[in-house]
Order: sequence, then C-alpha cells, then structure tokens
Amino acid sequence: MTEQVRVRFAPSPTGSLHLGNVRTALYNWLYARHTQGVLILRIEDTDKERSSEAHCEELMEIMTWLGLKWDEGPRVGGPYAPYKQSERTDLYEAHLERLKAKNLVYPCYCTEEELELERKRQLGRGHMPKYGGKCKNLTPEDRQKLEAEGKTPVLRFIVPPGEITVQDEVRGEVVFPDDQIGDFVLTRSDKSPTYNFTVVVDDALMKVTHVIRGEDHLSNTPKQILLYKALGYLPPKFAHLSIIKGPDGRSE
Ligand code: GLU
Repeated sequence: MTEQVRVRFAPSPTGSLHLGNVRTALYNWLYARHTQGVLILRIEDTDKERSSEAHCEELMEIMTWLGLKWDEGPRVGGPYAPYKQSERTDLYEAHLERLKAKNLVYPCYCTEEELELERKRQLGRGHMPKYGGKCKNLTPEDRQKLEAEGKTPVLRFIVPPGEITVQDEVRGEVVFPDDQIGDFVLTRSDKSPTYNFTVVVDDALMKVTHVIRGEDHLSNTPKQILLYKALGYLPPKFAHLSIIKGPDGRSE
C-alpha cells in the first residue's frame, strides 16, 4: 500500500496573508485533494513579538473564504494536535534534550554586534557569511564566567562537515557545499525555539510526507535535513515553488 500523502500549509501569523502564501496554500490543497491525502494547517507563532491571534483568525477566514479547507489544524483538530507552535513547547524541549544528549548543541554568547562585524568581514573578503564557531570551544569555566556577567546564550546546532544535497521535486538536485552552513541557532536567548528547529520537529511528528513551500526556504532545507538526521527521522520530500514577484521585482 502506498503511503498516504500528508502536506501542510504553515503560515506565521505576523501579518496579513500575501499572494505568495495563498499560492503555497493552494498548491498544498491541490496536491492533497489530487492524491486523497491530508492537508494540515499549522500556525507557526513562535515569534511572540510579531505574531497575533487576530492575524491567525484572519488567515483562517481567508482560507475558508477561498474554499481551501484543511483536514487537520486549528478549529478542526486532528491526531497530532495541538497545531499551533506556541502550544507545542514541551515537544521542542524534549527534542532539544535529545540533541544535547548527543553533544550536538553548544551555547553561544556572541552579541548581535559581534556577529554583524563577522558578517561584514566575511562579505568584505567575498565569502558567504556564516557563523565561524567562536563559542564552540569555550571551556565550562569560560561559560560560567560569561553567565556570571549576566550573558544569556543562544543554543547552536553543530553542523557536521560535508556537502549536503537536497533532492528537490521542482529543481532536481541542489548541492550545498561544505563551507556554506555555519552552526545555526536552535533556541534564542529567551529560550524560544527558532523556525528551522520547530519546523523539523513538527513536520516529523505530524508525519508530513511532502513539504511544498516557497523557494525563499530552499536555503533552510539543508539545515533541516541535518536536523532530521540528528534526530533520527526520515526527511520528507521537498518541493520549492518559485516566488511571485510584483512589477517592482520584490516578492509579493
Ligand atoms: N512559517 C514559515 C513561513 O511562513 C513556513 C515555512 C515552511 O513552510 O516551512 O514562511
């Protein structure tokens, strides 16, 4: 028996839905209907500052008005509830513990200013900016000292060496060379989890089979593949859609 298709539309309720979001929702809905699969609506509201309940309600009204009915998600429930990331904190914490137990995480105390300086230096040398790993080799004493000074760290994931290949359903094979991805942030200094982390935990737990989204997320995909591997999950299939641009060349 072939596996049932499970796709998701995962908007962040930080503003009104734009045309690009609606198209992503439409493609996911079409694929779910075409394959007798399941469309999940997941609300990605971990950015507490920018997310609002009003935007969340509005986007569900718009989807309903467009006839893009979801099979699992807020209002309708489902076997992998809750479908709002702000209500799934314990799951992210449990997964973080798994990564910590494998020594794949370290605290980073670099300030925004230090990181910005590093980025500028790398760009100045014509290199892709990425975190150089300054805090990776801090000793427990160094960490204690920084914390005694009141510094609250972010937690970074240790990216293993080696290139990463994304097998994209639209673009084919996309190779990300060895030196392009620096150790990336899993939790912010207020301990809230970042997008790349929550999206993997949720797509894995919600048994998503196909991730269909805008190609602005293509560069996140190798990071997500690394997290799937580190957590022992099988990655879904990925399909990155071209971005809709306005006449001024900016994305809609
Ligand atoms: N919350 C992300 C966004 O709105 C979802 C990206 C994804 O589909 O993985 O861009």
